[in-house]
Amino acid sequence: MSGWTTLAEAQTMDAADPLRAYRDRFTLPEGLIYLDGNSLGALPRATPARVAAAVEAQWGHDLIASWNKHGWIEAPVRLGARIAPLIGAGADEVIVADSTSANLFKLIVAACQAQPDRTTILTEPGNFPTDLYIAQGIADLLPGRQVRTVPVGEIAAAIDGDTAVVMLTHVHYKTGAMLDMASLTMAAHAKGALILWDLSHSVGAVPVDLVGCDADMAVGCGYKYLNGGPGAPAFLYVAGRLHGRLRSPMTGWMGHRAPFDFGDDYAPGEGMAPFLCGTPPILGMAALDAGLDTFDGVSMAEVTAKSRSLSALLIAGIEQRCAGAGFTLVTPRDPATRGSHVSVAHPHAWEVCQALIARGVVGDFRAPEVLRLGLTPLYTSHEDVWRAVEMIAEVMETEAWRDPAYAERAAVT
Ligand SMILES: *Cc1c(COP(=O)(O)O)cnc(C)c1O
Repeated sequence: MSGWTTLAEAQTMDAADPLRAYRDRFTLPEGLIYLDGNSLGALPRATPARVAAAVEAQWGHDLIASWNKHGWIEAPVRLGARIAPLIGAGADEVIVADSTSANLFKLIVAACQAQPDRTTILTEPGNFPTDLYIAQGIADLLPGRQVRTVPVGEIAAAIDGDTAVVMLTHVHYKTGAMLDMASLTMAAHAKGALILWDLSHSVGAVPVDLVGCDADMAVGCGYKYLNGGPGAPAFLYVAGRLHGRLRSPMTGWMGHRAPFDFGDDYAPGEGMAPFLCGTPPILGMAALDAGLDTFDGVSMAEVTAKSRSLSALLIAGIEQRCAGAGFTLVTPRDPATRGSHVSVAHPHAWEVCQALIARGVVGDFRAPEVLRLGLTPLYTSHEDVWRAVEMIAEVMETEAWRDPAYAERAAVT
């Protein structure tokens, strides 16, 4: 196909890739092209031994002494400090706790309660479902509060004196569009509103500068590009200038100033501590720690450059090699406004996705008609992308996706 890259050209790109050695930090099944690291990051090679050590040597041998002896009690703070440089935050502004959903709850309520005269949680329609659902639950819980959704291009203009918090996802889970954090944060502050960024599809894949953008709050996932494993603990960020002013509604004992005084009355701890709630999940933290090790020595500028190179190749492949197959590019064409996955719409996206998975090319499907292909700079190669494009072309040309076996829906897509 004229114009479309050759395999040799893709391999030349890989040879020049400064991140190519990092693929060895992961265990990927032979022959599989895994394009779903934005949904569940691959298994780091070091994780099984790390988790086994936490289970056998720590839990098994040292039992409860491990809380002190192995620093278990410090894990939320220690891992938060490891995530901080990936998102442009101070080490004492990030803590690891709970799920992204629970952390959204804590921060949206905190923002609303810090601004009792403002009634609105402002977000975009089509935001990630849990973000919308949590906001809706809070509006039911707090008298007089409401959720307002406005198309993302109109958000800045919609912020007003009634906006308590603007809640946005930095890289959209479905479209892959990346928002301008600096300008939207400035727009929120100009109207006296707080802003909360969901970094689930950003952290570890695209540049994020929370402090540089003067962002107020953020949350994000541990199991996507951070490779922390299924259901890994999540993180939250609160700007240092808001510590003490934003109060978590989940006043669990781990956020108390002195949990082991066992007093009857709640008193919040310092810094990010009040955003902890219960006992940290140590086995999940061990796996997340090993996931974060995969970023040791990695330049985020090189991660960004590779993400853009991979997504540009994939977009070119779909448009040139798969022209006429009925795909519509959903992801923005400008690399500065897209994250690290490429989404294409197709009326039979579900079936196409299943046919690809059956052939060892793993992407995913988002209703109603999006095929999502995630590009993880630490382990996806240009050759992977090239082979994936060839497989997509084959599935479309042969109409292999029409096999009725691919029409059956699973519980998790
Ligand atoms: C993946 C994702 C979540 C997931 O939240 P959980 O509580 O971990 O299930 C939330 N928000 C966004 C934007 C996501 O992409």
